[in-house]
Amino acid sequence: MTVWEQGVSQPWAQRALVLLAVACAEDEKADRLAQLSIGQRDACLLALREKIFGPQLAGVASCPACGEVLEFGIKAAEIRATPTVVPTETMDLSHTDYEVRFRLPNSLDMTSLDPKADNRTNRQRLLTRCVLVARRAGAEITPDELPPEVVAAIAERMTEADPQAEVQLALACPKCAHHWQVPLDILSFFWSEINAWAIRLLHDVHVLASAYGWREADILAMSPKRRQAYLELVQP
Ligand SMILES: [Zn+2]
Repeated sequence: MTVWEQGVSQPWAQRALVLLAVACAEDEKADRLAQLSIGQRDACLLALREKIFGPQLAGVASCPACGEVLEFGIKAAEIRATPTVVPTETMDLSHTDYEVRFRLPNSLDMTSLDPKADNRTNRQRLLTRCVLVARRAGAEITPDELPPEVVAAIAERMTEADPQAEVQLALACPKCAHHWQVPLDILSFFWSEINAWAIRLLHDVHVLASAYGWREADILAMSPKRRQAYLELVQP
């Protein structure tokens, strides 16, 4: 409940950090957590999600071809990605006469983005933060001067090194057999589960407090089984 309360009014990147602080041992420094790459962050969130809600993830999607709404279930293990290359602090890329040194985006980069800005602006801001050195024919240039094909090559290398940051689910429609992929954002997925759980719990507290006059702290301290038993007595 505390995590939900701390995170509910925060932007997404901050919510992730609130959750990570729970997932990791207390001696982990907040600044170190914020410096995890997005894939490392999402791997921690997936592990925490599994610990709290179990190994199965359930969701709904609608078929882009026929509009059929389907429910899907996947196991956390199926979307746990392993990097094909060992992620290092910095990466180097040579493309035609361009040479770039860059690092993977982290939570600090995400919090620096403007949620109201368009994707292009935020992509550019992320690039400016993550590109450490850029050269054309040996002469230093700014990240803005990199051509789109070099930017695309950087994005591809980032995905290879940090695959957990971009999880795609392969879905198939049972009605029209259409196959497609949807991105799964573990942060928003997990948060919507926490949100639903918190709202349900608040509702239960409201019902029991109204019926018995018990304090919130006492109701929350009960085991879920005992709380459920009282709820059934109040609302048979
Ligand atoms: Zn379909």
